Amino acid sequence: MQKLLDFVKNAPGTGLVAVALALAISACGNVGQVSADSKSAAVSISPTEKSSLEGLEGSSYQNSAQWRDCVSSASPFYPDVSGLVGKINPVIGKMADISPPVNEVALLDAPPRGENSVGVFLCNGMSASANALYRTVSLSNDFIGRLKEAVRANGGGDDEFVSGLAFVLYHEIGHAVLNHSALKLRGDAKFGLPQELEADQFALDVMAAVGISTKGVETARSVADVY
Ligand SMILES: [Zn+2]
Repeated sequence: MQKLLDFVKNAPGTGLVAVALALAISACGNVGQVSADSKSAAVSISPTEKSSLEGLEGSSYQNSAQWRDCVSSASPFYPDVSGLVGKINPVIGKMADISPPVNEVALLDAPPRGENSVGVFLCNGMSASANALYRTVSLSNDFIGRLKEAVRANGGGDDEFVSGLAFVLYHEIGHAVLNHSALKLRGDAKFGLPQELEADQFALDVMAAVGISTKGVETARSVADVY
């Protein structure tokens, strides 16, 4: 993680990010569980695990009924998410330590994702706000709608909405590029708090690198359930 993020060390706004991260951690409510060494690097996976993870994605892709609800270009939020995908791509390209490599994040209408990419889908009917299965990321349209409403209810504008959306999208992409799904292969039922904090840090650092404020982060955290 450290080397991964070296490129944003001199990005403007790092102090704000640190404040926001502290807020994010306190909002989580489980700070006592965080050990001093919990910020580990990305999960290293073997070729066998890579095959297994791609197999899990492939099995998921066979559920055609599910993916009919994930035509991203049909989502009212396609323009917003497309803009955020466009912002992270030049940054992803500089993260040389991502292994297996990721050359592109792509907002897709149907699986499969391409080799060495992260595929993003905007879905109806999801039970969770968002999830990541290896390098496949899904965001709930219902959740994004609730986020937009919550921002408006608080008197926030479009920039705050986009900030909250960026946080959730980049958090999921963080899970994807850090190979967190490998921990489920190894027996964990779900991502642990260290993985959630790493994904949060990934998201906040990307936001700083591409010049997106953190003003929507708290609202996103309050609206999201499991992410
Ligand atoms: Zn997460």
